Amino acid sequence: MKLILLGAPGSGKGTQAAYISDKYDLPHISTGDLFRENIKNETPLGKKIKSVMSTGQLCPDDLTVELVKDRLEEADCKSGYLLDGFPRDIPQAVALDEFASPDVVIEIKVDLAKVEHRITGRRSCLSCGGSFHVDFIGNVSKCPKCGDELVIRKDDNPITVKERLEVYENQTAPLIDYYKKQGKLVVINGDQSIENVFSDIVKVLG
Ligand code: ADP
Ligand code: ADP
Ligand code: ZN
Repeated sequence: MKLILLGAPGSGKGTQAAYISDKYDLPHISTGDLFRENIKNETPLGKKIKSVMSTGQLCPDDLTVELVKDRLEEADCKSGYLLDGFPRDIPQAVALDEFASPDVVIEIKVDLAKVEHRITGRRSCLSCGGSFHVDFIGNVSKCPKCGDELVIRKDDNPITVKERLEVYENQTAPLIDYYKKQGKLVVINGDQSIENVFSDIVKVLG
């Protein structure tokens, strides 16, 4: 099963990906997590993308496609993958179609007016990729999943959120039509509880 999660920043892709990856035994590949890991480890790639990522703009397509291509060639992706945050524009989707075209694309659709609250209250774990919200876990400093440090992402502030939503509408949202035309798009209502969003996804995937 080759799966893509599509949706605005804060729509719940990372949250749902963790559940899907567990249930269907698929490697969860988040380009955002991969980029953050590279920044944390101060790799050459990390140095190249650090400043653009903090503005909320997209990292260059060639670097991003290469990163995903290399990751999908690893052994754990032989029987499928779960991509979260990739592709994020038409050129990336066209590139992906050339090496590992998806079977199903799940769009998590949310009211864009509500995502700022979700993003500014997000607490992220850089170790396990966990994503939480202060509304649910309170103002704790340790990851409920793995016990490591929780952080507020540098780009999770109201100004950058605005920028990221614009990038989403201009560059990423056209993918909805792209995959609709391929007959691969499934739309899920993301404005419900985490459990209900997941159960709707399971109904689709079986
Ligand atoms: P994305 O990966 O799409 O940016 P996340 O999964 O990180 O989104 O979720 C963004 C924030 O919203 C997190 O703080 C998360 O805990 C919270 N969240 C995710 N799904 C829901 C939901 N269905 N209802 C309320 N809050 C949610
Ligand atoms: P969110 O969960 O809020 O949607 P991500 O963690 O997916 O955020 O992405 C954070 C940032 O990483 C993006 O704003 C962008 O700068 C960069 N990024 C992630 N995925 C991609 C991609 N496929 N193409 C280009 N840039 C990306
Ligand atoms: Zn963790």
